[in-house]
Order: sequence, then C-alpha cells, then structure tokens
Amino acid sequence: RKLGVALVGLGKYSTDELAPALQQTKLCRLAGIVTGSPAKAARWKQQYNIADKNIYDYKTFDRIADNPDIDIVYVVLPNALHAEYVVRAAQAGKHVICEKPMATSVADAARMIAAMQKAGKKLGIGYRLHFEPHHREMMRLGQQQVFGPVQHLLADNGFRFNNDTPWRVNKALSGGGPLMDMGIYCLQGCIYTKGQVPVSVTAKFTPKTDPMLFKEVEAGVNWQLQFADGATADCRTTYAENMASRLRAEAPKGWAELAPAFGYGGLQGRTSQGPMNIPNVNQQAAQMDDFADCVLHNKPTRVPGEMGLRDVQLLEAIYRAAETGQKVSTKDVASVLDKV
Ligand code: NAD
Repeated sequence: RKLGVALVGLGKYSTDELAPALQQTKLCRLAGIVTGSPAKAARWKQQYNIADKNIYDYKTFDRIADNPDIDIVYVVLPNALHAEYVVRAAQAGKHVICEKPMATSVADAARMIAAMQKAGKKLGIGYRLHFEPHHREMMRLGQQQVFGPVQHLLADNGFRFNNDTPWRVNKALSGGGPLMDMGIYCLQGCIYTKGQVPVSVTAKFTPKTDPMLFKEVEAGVNWQLQFADGATADCRTTYAENMASRLRAEAPKGWAELAPAFGYGGLQGRTSQGPMNIPNVNQQAAQMDDFADCVLHNKPTRVPGEMGLRDVQLLEAIYRAAETGQKVSTKDVASVLDKV
C-alpha cells in the first residue's frame, strides 16, 4: 500500500523538489495539499490530480483528522511555523515529517515531540542526506574508523542570498540566518561522520556585508565543534557568498571528502585511496520512502524528532558562543545518533 502524503506549504521546496520526488517514491503518493493560495490549489489539483476533498487551507487544516487518504503530513513552512503545524497534525492523529531546522527554539522542539508521543504517531525530520549514499559512505568510513579515528573535520555550506524568500532574514520566522538554513548541514555532516555529539562549541560571526539585508540575522558564522576525544570540526556558513560545499574528514591513515557535498544531486566523493564512484539518487524520494517504510513496519526512523531537538540545542549553543565569544558546553545534549 502507498501511504498518502499531504504537503503543508507549497513554496519552493515543495514545488521544485518534494512533489516531483513523490512521483518517484515506491511507498508514498501525493494525496493532499495545504495552502493559503486558491490559485496554487487549482494549479496543483490539475497537475497532480488531487481530489477536492484533500485540499485544505490553514484554517480547515485540522479537518484532515477525518481524512483516511492522508497518512503523513509533511510540514514545509518557514521554520517558526513548524511547531504549530506539527502539533496540529499530531492532534489530527497523523504521522509527520517536519522540515529542517525542526524548530526555532528548544521549547518548541520539545513540545512537538511531546504532542507526537501523545498521539502515538511517528515524527521524522526532513534530513534528506541521511538517505544519500555518499553521506552513508562518510558515516561508514568515519564511524567504523576505516582510516583510524577521525581527528579533524571540515564543512562549508553557504550561498549568496538574493532575498527571494524574505522570511529567511526575518528572525521571527526563520529563527536565524544561514546557520539555521545551510549551516545545519555542516553540523549534521560532522556529527554523523564522527559518530559522536560534540562536547563544546566556539564560534564567531562574519562581518555584516549588507547591514540592511542582515538587520535581524547573521550574514555568516564560522564555528568549531570539539569532541570528547580531542577531535575538532571547523565549519563555515554564509548568506554573503556562494561557497563550494564540502565535507571532509581526516584520520591518521587517510581522508575522505565530498565536494560538492550538500546539494540535491551531483555529489562527488573521494578518499585518500581514490574516487568513491557512488551514484547519485533522488534524495527526497529515498527519505520519504524510508519514513513510509518505518510507518508501515513500525520501525524507528533514523532521523527522529529527538535528533531535530539535538540539533536545535546545538544551533542555540553555536549562537551563544558567537554572541559571547566564550566556549559553550554541549555536554547536556542527548547523544542521538544515526549509527551505520
Ligand atoms: P518558501 O518561502 O519557498 O516556501 C514557504 C511556503 O510557506 C510558501 O508557500 C508560503 O506561502 C508559505 N507560508 C505560509 N505561511 C507563511 C508565512 N506566515 N510567512 C511566509 N510564508 C508562509 O520556502 P522553502 O524554501 O520552501 O522552505 C520551507 C521549509 O523547507 C523551511 O523550513 C526550509 O528550511 C525547508 N527547506 C528544506 C530543504 C531541504 O533540503 N531539506 C530545502 C529547502 C527548504
């Protein structure tokens, strides 16, 4: 059986990536939409053959509780709105995928997890790279210490923001700038390659190249994660320039690198022994099929709400480190890991 997915928020990511990917999934189908725009509703209805009874706006959304066509609600709204819609979907008795970053505060992330637990439904975060074979290979090489224990990691991910989605620089809606949006991939990549959660962080904001555009959020931030065994990860993110995206791990007997590392396709990997020669896949289709498989067979997802909460805690720690110039301990952050 294919599970029915309803996308909440029909912006760029839903339109350009998730809806096309749903056409390639084996275990899911695009069954419903939630949008504030009647024009978009009409377009999507025609393009994807969506039944009228499966089309909601933000006010009628809660009626989804009575709709057996919808098994999974996928929340693809600006970051600060994730909490409200995940909680409402939980109350409607649906399984939920929530886009990254899970929430704009630790308190919101915790209340989302609590609502899902109360509903007895599954919550997964839209962490597509956990289902991408180059990244699985980085996890294997790092976690299994194929070149010895990883001592140093490097991760860069950023682009020149042109204000096409103004909510991204509106702190109330985004929770922060490029760190919330792009930097989270660096954070994630270092954690799953090392196979550990850092014990502390240090950080520094980069100069505000355009003070008007970056009035409320950072233009960029460079930070370091420190791990219990002395390993470190140096990461950079920005909205001020197009960065070559990369994830690199160095160990005593060799290194492994992805560059480009974090896009939807075209990833390339190499190690000190040569090219990885791994095919690219449709990441979003792989991610959604894995979640559907977890729902159908009642298995835990590799990217649960607890991992989303872990990352919100670490993002807050990085902001605190940048604001204070001090090293911030992250020893209290739960060690939620995707183990290969
Ligand atoms: P977007 O601006 O293109 O889409 C957001 C949608 O939310 C729009 O359709 C907008 O109309 C709707 N919306 C509803 N209420 C709104 C409000 N009060 N203010 C602004 N918009 C409102 O953004 P996007 O790029 O599609 O990002 C949406 C979410 O998906 C974000 O959480 C983002 O981090 C995430 N995302 C994830 C990936 C990924 O690779 N996993 C990629 C892109 C975006």
